[in-house]
Amino acid sequence: MHGFDALPTDDLSRKAAEALREEVEQLASRCAARQANSEIVYVVDLFEFVLRTTEKAYEDYVPGGLGTGVVVNLALRGLPSAVSLAAATQFGPKDRRDAREADVSLDFSRQSFCGADVGRLLLMLFHEIFVHAVQSIECAGARSVFGDDCPLSEGFVDRGSFRVLVASLTRQHLPEQWQEMGVKLCHGVEAVHAERTDESRAPSSLGEAHARFQRAYGKEIFDKLAEIRGLDWALALAVRLNLSDLDKKERRGLMDAVYRSFGTRKNTVAVLGKLDRIVSGENPRIIL
Ligand SMILES: [Zn+2]
Repeated sequence: MHGFDALPTDDLSRKAAEALREEVEQLASRCAARQANSEIVYVVDLFEFVLRTTEKAYEDYVPGGLGTGVVVNLALRGLPSAVSLAAATQFGPKDRRDAREADVSLDFSRQSFCGADVGRLLLMLFHEIFVHAVQSIECAGARSVFGDDCPLSEGFVDRGSFRVLVASLTRQHLPEQWQEMGVKLCHGVEAVHAERTDESRAPSSLGEAHARFQRAYGKEIFDKLAEIRGLDWALALAVRLNLSDLDKKERRGLMDAVYRSFGTRKNTVAVLGKLDRIVSGENPRIIL
């Protein structure tokens, strides 16, 4: 395995990151593109920004926030590959109810990563942490990965995560080193998010076409609910569902139940009533 392991955090809020910072600096010095050097060095600050913003959003929208917290380990790997950037989250064998732990990996190409990729990097890192590192923390045992085709994670919660990210970028909550980059980052984040859900773009594979469809589907449901009930309500619902112990099939079933209800006004009203109860803390299975 290439690269550098781990920025462990005690919880989602903070941890001195000097060790990783040194490793990132070494990594940056090996990057082929010079502009990557200056920007990849600051990825640690971005990571901390993402942790803080995620923790704050969950605190704002769910009573008790993230509970006992989640340890997030970040592995950054500069790979000699053609793909400029890839990200993933795994749950290790130590993950359990009272001690949540997620391993986030960010792989980037040492040849092709450049300043233009930082918006993509930030969006992907934010997605991995806001959506995946904290997902299902209410389930009984170790967590599992839902995959690219979960409309709740990849579409619905992802749309919420995008709205939270853009709001915190425009509110100048960025780390000092990134503040001058705020507008550029924001444009990059918006462009990449739009591209990931744009069904009119030619997909690179059948799997990609399917994933894009699921993202667009969940996003449409989020936007419709935000239009009806307001953004804060939709965000409260998204984070609550994301923390819940619904399995993959139930997550899809819930999205389908909400989407189907948009067909008639009577059904919409009935489903909105149940969603209100979920936002207030009831088990999301009342809708299934
Ligand atoms: Zn994902």
